[in-house]
Amino acid sequence: MISQHSENSILKTENSARVFAIANQKGGVGKTTTAVNLATALAACKKRVLLIDLDPQGNASTGLGVSGAGGNRNSYHVLLGSARLAEAAVPSMVPGMSVVPSDVNLSGAEIELINLPQRERRLALQVAGIRSDYDYILIDCPPALGLLTLNALVAADAVLVPLQAEFYALEGLSNLVRTIQRVKRNFNPDLEIQGIVLTMYDRRNNLCDMVARDVRAYMGAAVYDTVIPRNVRVSEAPSHGKPVLLYDFRCAGSQAYISLAREVLRREQAGPGLSGAGPGVLGGLAPLGKPAGTLEDRAG
Ligand code: ADP
Ligand code: MG
Repeated sequence: MISQHSENSILKTENSARVFAIANQKGGVGKTTTAVNLATALAACKKRVLLIDLDPQGNASTGLGVSGAGGNRNSYHVLLGSARLAEAAVPSMVPGMSVVPSDVNLSGAEIELINLPQRERRLALQVAGIRSDYDYILIDCPPALGLLTLNALVAADAVLVPLQAEFYALEGLSNLVRTIQRVKRNFNPDLEIQGIVLTMYDRRNNLCDMVARDVRAYMGAAVYDTVIPRNVRVSEAPSHGKPVLLYDFRCAGSQAYISLAREVLRREQAGPGLSGAGPGVLGGLAPLGKPAGTLEDRAG
């Protein structure tokens, strides 16, 4: 029988898309906003981008003015095996970016998948078929660590974690890191953390500031320098069915997502060893509770 490692390597050939799962089991932390706007910013950097909406709420789809309802194929059909990803992908209003929408049926998929073969690899197997068509594939995960998110983590090369700087942020993060480590051990040995992005950041809020400092102390270089500020234009954009970059390019939120895309691309170019986002970081997370390097360490 083929080993897990070589099976994964076969699925991931050279010159093919890098796949990021945008994950955090907590709702309302900015996953969808980050998926939509990072995807848009990467497309603006001339990358071929596919955004897969894997949340039954379909916020990424509606935020881009795309509907997964009606007769169209969507991520539900992809997971259940009645459509290929290429059939479910539709062009978005952003040049160079396609979307695989979701719809409410996806909430039933968690249960329908249980008895299907390869239930945690179904998205990975589908993604393998279109890797050569894109530079980046982003997967917007639902706010839970169920079978949908598991499919995303098994399909992904790396996880990008949006984190809202609030009181329980670190606890939630350590749960997520444990899950990522479990997925790495059991299904996807190459899984890395691309990075952690602080979202809805409010500089005038002291708690925000304290939590951000803690997160940087514990997670070290995994945390992007870029911080996404709380910005009303970001929250208005989805109701216009647009990424904020198309809604108001000059606002602070748009500029932050452009800066995040640049940072993501820099890490990609640096490669796992140098980027600080490679297996080293994930390894360093194991104890989580023991700082991976404090702010002072890194300044000095
Ligand atoms: P998740 O996908 O993690 O549930 P969302 O991306 O949907 O989170 O964000 C939750 C809510 O917060 C949405 O209403 C969104 O518009 C808003 N939001 C996200 N990021 C920002 C931001 N930087 N500034 C202001 N509002 C934001
Ligand atoms: Mg969401």
